[in-house]
Amino acid sequence: MPPQQKYPLIWQKKNFLIKIFCSIPNIATGILIRAGNTHFVVDPGDGILRDLNKEIGTKNILNVSDAFITHGHHDHVGGIWTLITYMRVMHKQTPLSIHYPIGCVEIESIYHAFHNVYSKSLPYKITLKPIKESKSIHSHGISIKPFPVIHREYLNDGVSTRQVPALGYKFNFNGMKICYGGDTAYCIELVKHAKNSDLAIIEAGHDEDTPDDMHMTTKEAVSIGKSAKKYFLVHVPE
Ligand SMILES: [Zn+2]
Repeated sequence: MPPQQKYPLIWQKKNFLIKIFCSIPNIATGILIRAGNTHFVVDPGDGILRDLNKEIGTKNILNVSDAFITHGHHDHVGGIWTLITYMRVMHKQTPLSIHYPIGCVEIESIYHAFHNVYSKSLPYKITLKPIKESKSIHSHGISIKPFPVIHREYLNDGVSTRQVPALGYKFNFNGMKICYGGDTAYCIELVKHAKNSDLAIIEAGHDEDTPDDMHMTTKEAVSIGKSAKKYFLVHVPE
């Protein structure tokens, strides 16, 4: 049986922690990673500021150095405006990098709107970091390996679909590895990166046994999860 997902989901080994505040399809995702004294935010959906405030407080929110976005769907980016605006109001001093798959127009549009409104009164620097290739990123002693995944969305006709810019990330800190696939259909890159991870976070967004090219069925997700030392199933419809 797959592990029951009841949010928040927490995994911790030594000084490496991940807390998944929630991951509900079409509603919101929100993930915090702490590695030593470093804080990352992953897929800041609606509610992320509320959850971070409760979990780590203002001081640590202002020290968040990097945000990682798997793709631009609203349930993964809906809280980013609130978060970066809060950082402005509370006088964040340290820079923030936002990593996202190249071509993710949602992040660039939100950032440009934010920049238009607040560029003259912004106490900290935001750097957009579009990811073009699967080269590892290094930040504060953590290495982050992005990898491409398969995730599609419907066009206006409600029938045809297109691939959206979408990534998974593997976070590696002091030899410990967390693999997060984001939203994805079954794909070989995720199979490869989840294998032997200390924790694999695998979406099971499909509610029946008819696989498509947007999400995975529970069976597919479990088959990948089992190749890791531990796994969480997320993004299960509620
Ligand atoms: Zn999605």
